[in-house]
Amino acid sequence: MALRLKPFRNEPHLDFSKPENVRKQRKAIEEVRKQLGQEYPNLIDGKEVYNREKLPSFNPAHPHEVIGVFQKATQRDAERALQAAWRAFEEWKRVPAEERAQYLLKAAQEMRRRRLELNAWMICEVGKNYAEADADTCEAIDFLEYYAREAIRYAQPQPVTPVPGERNEYFYIPLGAGVIIPPWNFPLAILTGMTSAAIAAGNTVVVKPSSESPMMGWLLADIFRSVGLPDGVLNLVIGSGSNIGDFLVAHPRTRFIAFTGSMEVGLHIHELAAKRQPGQLWIKRTILEMGGKDAIIVDSEADLDAAVQGVVVSAYGYQGQKCSACSRAIVDKAVYEEFLHRLKPAVHALRIGDPADNFDVGPVISERAKESILSYIAIGKKEAKLFLGGNPVGDLDGHYIEPTVFVNVPPRARIAQEEIFGPVLAVIKANSFVDALRIANGTIYGLTGSVYSRNPDKLRMAREEFHVGNLYFNRKCTGALVGGHPFGGFNMSGTDSKAGGPDYLLLFLQGKSVSEKLT
Ligand code: NAP
Ligand code: MG
Repeated sequence: MALRLKPFRNEPHLDFSKPENVRKQRKAIEEVRKQLGQEYPNLIDGKEVYNREKLPSFNPAHPHEVIGVFQKATQRDAERALQAAWRAFEEWKRVPAEERAQYLLKAAQEMRRRRLELNAWMICEVGKNYAEADADTCEAIDFLEYYAREAIRYAQPQPVTPVPGERNEYFYIPLGAGVIIPPWNFPLAILTGMTSAAIAAGNTVVVKPSSESPMMGWLLADIFRSVGLPDGVLNLVIGSGSNIGDFLVAHPRTRFIAFTGSMEVGLHIHELAAKRQPGQLWIKRTILEMGGKDAIIVDSEADLDAAVQGVVVSAYGYQGQKCSACSRAIVDKAVYEEFLHRLKPAVHALRIGDPADNFDVGPVISERAKESILSYIAIGKKEAKLFLGGNPVGDLDGHYIEPTVFVNVPPRARIAQEEIFGPVLAVIKANSFVDALRIANGTIYGLTGSVYSRNPDKLRMAREEFHVGNLYFNRKCTGALVGGHPFGGFNMSGTDSKAGGPDYLLLFLQGKSVSEKLT
């Protein structure tokens, strides 16, 4: 029975300017709050596994509030999970792509049904406001719908050139059992995207969520279990990178690693995975999506109000904790003063507070993140001029930092070069559009970027010269959509895997050519 699917479309985001949507989301948060502090198992070969050592998850807006208590997986658990994945692979690789796709489509349906609840957990576990959490859940749904279709597409016979006297075929087969290592900042979307792509392609996985967002890991595993995904196809182990991450990456039976996170950890995984271990039969495949130091260029011919709005949303949305966040505004000297003049009230207008009450700016993820961001603010005070913010928010319970702006930042300053991953913007003055492009390209990263200009010649120039994986014109540099904006960066931003694009599933497949001599 052939599956008839409508063309992929993005899941529409909820409009939280409508009071009834706010009311519904608030109610879902209340429901979730009644369930805080419960205990959740790991899932290995379909079995719930409990351990002596626990790993609690905390609410960054109320650091003493426990979201859930998770099982700190041991290396033995990780080993069992990987063996279970290999056992399940023998069956799963033979399941037709259409049938595999069905599990993803059912999981998408389940996410739609539980959408406000998923948003609510995310709001409490990682401190997203309503719109940010909902966009994350929508992106997870999009990945499921998109990769389901992609799995079917890649399962078709591939074209080959006719060769006289032969019958030739070319097709794709999965890789085997791999490891999925996501970050906490898109705790449902990226987790779901990497996991579902791998299994849609016919692989089996061990998923190690970030220890900052284990609840979202549990929810995804639970959703796939609820739609009947066979045991062992998705195994969940909660634990830190140093605890089980390294073990899984180095394991000779790990076939591939899909990672999204910081450059430091990505490079470490790259190195560790490259080393052949005793008994290892393959070169491990690594898909590594890493950090950014993303810039918005504000040209002398820009619509300044639009540019200010784009910079503010990109710099402070989810407290700047996005790989795509604008951390540098590179402004032509002709409009520099006017830009700052308009930026000031826009940043002041941001309301800081508990994401459960849907404030614009919430807490950063952890005390450690807060310390790290504050240390960059201290560095910035030596390198440039503090223009706005710069302080922790003392009268709030969580890990809050004011939206911060540094101005007259030298392009080579550390705060203009290193990923801070918090609500800190460096404003840099450029002498010309060409100078702005040179500054924009002057970091080790190359993830997202944006240009505000009314001059089509300048946009044409940026299209060629601005070396980023995701370039935007006259709009914010965050909020890539599955299908519309395949996502991934150049240089130290990663392997340019282009999540949510037509090449992504191929990363989880290998091509096989079969040629038969005709007699
Ligand atoms: P991170 O600290 O690099 O951690 C990412 C994941 O790697 C976590 O699950 C982490 O587990 C795990 N890990 C840490 N050390 C490991 C090791 N030695 N071996 C194996 N796994 C290990 O990054 P994060 O703080 O979660 O996320 C923020 C970073 O992600 C930023 O740099 C951001 O730019 C980047 N990011 C990039 C993209 C993209 O598409 N390019 C998208 C989103 C985020 P534990 O934390 O539990 O130890
Ligand atoms: Mg937390």
